[in-house]
Amino acid sequence: MPAPTPRTASPSLAFPAFPGAEAARLLAIQHQLSLSERWTPAELRAAQARQLDLLLRHAAAEVPHYRERVTAALALPAEDLAGRLAAIPVSTRSDLQAAGEGLRARRLPAEHGKFATATTTGSTGEPLRFARTSATNAVWLANALREYLWQGRDFSLKLGAIRMFPNAAGEPTEEGIRQPDWGPSVASIYPSGPGVYLSSSLTPDAQLRWLQRERPDYLTSYPSNLVALADHAEARGVALPSPRELRTIGETVTPESRARIESAWGCRVTDCYTCEEAGYLALQCPAGTHYHVMAESVILEVLDDGGNPCATGREGRVVVTHLTNFITPFIRYELGDFAVPGEPGTCACGRTLPTLARILGRRRNRLTLPDGTRVFPTFGIWTMGKEFADAGVRRIRCIQRSTRLLEFVLQSGRRLTEAEEARLREIAQAKSAAGFEVAISYSQDPAFWKAGKHEAFFSDLA
Ligand SMILES: [Zn+2]
Repeated sequence: MPAPTPRTASPSLAFPAFPGAEAARLLAIQHQLSLSERWTPAELRAAQARQLDLLLRHAAAEVPHYRERVTAALALPAEDLAGRLAAIPVSTRSDLQAAGEGLRARRLPAEHGKFATATTTGSTGEPLRFARTSATNAVWLANALREYLWQGRDFSLKLGAIRMFPNAAGEPTEEGIRQPDWGPSVASIYPSGPGVYLSSSLTPDAQLRWLQRERPDYLTSYPSNLVALADHAEARGVALPSPRELRTIGETVTPESRARIESAWGCRVTDCYTCEEAGYLALQCPAGTHYHVMAESVILEVLDDGGNPCATGREGRVVVTHLTNFITPFIRYELGDFAVPGEPGTCACGRTLPTLARILGRRRNRLTLPDGTRVFPTFGIWTMGKEFADAGVRRIRCIQRSTRLLEFVLQSGRRLTEAEEARLREIAQAKSAAGFEVAISYSQDPAFWKAGKHEAFFSDLA
């Protein structure tokens, strides 16, 4: 796929194009990213240290929550990035909720532009209110564009997404929503094909009908939804459309769900690691299944139980510092996710950005074994539905109720027979290998399924 030519804002100057002001800014940021992704680690750290220094000075002066927290760091030289980070206490989500208005900067430098408030729709507990500026949006768009360019997508084709719609979009319909282009990250610069969107709250039948009708070339959705559609199509004997590429968002892609999706849909899965608070955190490498950290906009640390950076291959807590949000700064913010740092050095794709070997999910997605060990389970919950297709099983969620009891909740056309329930217990026990007692229950309550978003497993013990 040759690099596309930007749209020109000057009719008599088509090549090289003379883009308009907004497109020019986005392209200018994207151009820098295309260079910095090949810098040496020392060059990247030096640039991060410079921007972190600006953020810390601003936070110390204008943001009550951080005033005390960054004092010790600011006493160290700006170049000592690791030392400065280690000197700042980690803020959890509840710390930031407790901070309330104290998280908001009293003054914002004019160059950050206008700001708008947002609320995380976290799967549990109280939402977190924060704000984004024109500057954070510009960086968000540049990273979004970067993802499209990395994966070599052809902008002239049709982009599709099946995902949750914000309430503002109104009641979801089976027709979905049609846009003339791919949205601002692409269409503000390049000509593009249409974008089509459907709500993931519709039934698998409605989603499959829409896919057959629209046949998008690229499809974005949640891994669990793509597995559910594959299972459903298989059970009904319906063929899945074959997009060029599936793009996954919003949930952890396990090796198991990746294999299931790629074989059923017959195309490659590329995953994005994002969060509402800080936008793009990492993108899947075009040459593998690991991720590259968006190190120009976030400092992403993976920390062990003692708060020290994890070695390559060791899992730990994800802590992020968003370098451009000056209105509600996120400085050493613990997201609640777990990840495994990948190999340092130059990647097969030629980039040098730090890597994550795997993203494991959230604290509440960890299973506690009877001996107290915590693991991320591989029950194959997403693929279990297929075993019970006769009962019209649409979704299965496993909840750890105690160190001895796992409850499997099913959304199904009918209750399982005794033989089917025995089979489900057998599979669950074989896969957990820890002698759990297994309870089975049924729920058709949309509120229950919505509450945990798309999580297939979570633990009450977290
Ligand atoms: Zn790479």
